[in-house]
Amino acid sequence: MTENASPPIVQRAAGFADRIAVVAENGTLTYADLLDASARVAAALLDGRPSLDGARVAFLTPPGWEYVAVQWGVWRAGGVAVPLAVSHPEVELEYVVRDADAEAVIVHAEFSDVLRPVAERAERRFLSVEDALAAAPVPMPDVAADGAAMIIYTSGTTGRPKGVVSTHANLRAQVTTLVDAWGWTADDRTLLILPLHHVHGIVNVLCCAMWAGAVCEVLPRFDADETWRTIESGRLTLLMAVPTVYRRLITAFDAADEQRRERMAAGCRGMRLMVSGSAALPVQMLERWREISGHTLLERYGMTEIGMALSNPLHGERRPGSVGVPLPSVDTRVVDDEGVPVDAGTPGDLEIRGPSVFGEYWRRPEATAEAFRDGWFRSGDVAVVEDGYYRLLGRRSVDIIKTGGFKVSALEIEEVLREHPSIGECAVVGMEDEEWGERVCVAVEAAGAEGVPPLAELQAWARQRLAPYKLPRDLRVVDALPRNAMGKVMKPEVAKFFAQR
Ligand code: ATP
Ligand code: MG
Repeated sequence: MTENASPPIVQRAAGFADRIAVVAENGTLTYADLLDASARVAAALLDGRPSLDGARVAFLTPPGWEYVAVQWGVWRAGGVAVPLAVSHPEVELEYVVRDADAEAVIVHAEFSDVLRPVAERAERRFLSVEDALAAAPVPMPDVAADGAAMIIYTSGTTGRPKGVVSTHANLRAQVTTLVDAWGWTADDRTLLILPLHHVHGIVNVLCCAMWAGAVCEVLPRFDADETWRTIESGRLTLLMAVPTVYRRLITAFDAADEQRRERMAAGCRGMRLMVSGSAALPVQMLERWREISGHTLLERYGMTEIGMALSNPLHGERRPGSVGVPLPSVDTRVVDDEGVPVDAGTPGDLEIRGPSVFGEYWRRPEATAEAFRDGWFRSGDVAVVEDGYYRLLGRRSVDIIKTGGFKVSALEIEEVLREHPSIGECAVVGMEDEEWGERVCVAVEAAGAEGVPPLAELQAWARQRLAPYKLPRDLRVVDALPRNAMGKVMKPEVAKFFAQR
């Protein structure tokens, strides 16, 4: 085994040996501790073989150091890591285990009851993390940079989650781009409050922290009060979250007394960066967060398939409602239906190219073929460039509504409707309509106990702010919009509210 042949992220860790890497409820581990733990997991997985040779290993641990030990262990053994989601029901877990064709399932005791029957039914090897950690380290195989490292499943916002195969080289590019762009160093200390089955928590938080030699504190699950307490402690430098998390932090702030609010605000002011992504950040939320924390949230855009592609700058203007500019090493373009680049100011399909872009969807050659055009990855998102800054109009499949001969953006309409005082959150979808082609429909969560005014009243209000063809034609008031584990609104589920008349 040569040093050079171990996975890049693991190789880096050797340089930070005695520094603290992960601080979790059940223990604080240094980088050296993680290297040792991962060598043991690798040995248990290898079980006498020289290499896993690209076999998939599905795993489920609570967020924390065990996650890192297993992820690195799978990599070091020459396997492909397939993280499972803590929040997923048994059927979803089984779908991923079978779809990824995992040879083994390795699980923390907390999840044995759920995963053991899955492993048995699917006839996969079952290991407990505790047993694996007791194995004695063995020599490890060479790991090729262009070999598969992970299969991360997409969020399932628009359909069944797809397995995205990222190589070690892809991950390295994704991580180093962000470490540079957002100025990560070994002096950083972040708090992981995102799930570890998704690119946001895995790459942007955990892998970047480990690459930089920083400290990653971990909450067992997101809790607004605990998160605030950690911020108040003044030890964090960096926080990354999704808009629904910032929303809950705002609610908790508003409920706190004056003295605590001061401590909360002081904790925020001591930090150097706060980032939002994975779903559109409402401008109102950005402004409210700025009042509370003094920080203009840095909004960025990315996907499981590409890591991060666009980001507002660390230094320089962060533009509300925009996802920023292309990250260095990422090529982007906005094209028309024929794949021809459009002028600035004209909406089109966002395409991405570069070393961070994945190679294939796992065992879905047709989906892979459809996803690329002339070497460019077709994101499926529609964007417009204004003064070099990219603004997202939404997903072509669910957010671009063709109505009365116009193409309208659900995201733009949502942004306007959110300004109505009785609307807490809303989701706009297009439903088939004989007269309009598609009609604009909105599902609404009320802001308060007073409820939401009837459609006609809402339309009258919206008429002052939206072109007539963008006005909602149908309204449903719901207790909670259907969201997935990343807090993203699942538009196909929203559409069902309107289909059931
Ligand atoms: P699926 O592909 O299974 O439907 P998904 O696309 O939500 O799920 P992810 O890879 O987690 O799975 O998410 C990528 C998508 O998230 C992007 O294509 C984009 O639509 C959305 N997204 C990410 N960041 C932002 C952002 N800052 N603003 C708006 N949308 C965003
Ligand atoms: Mg997607």
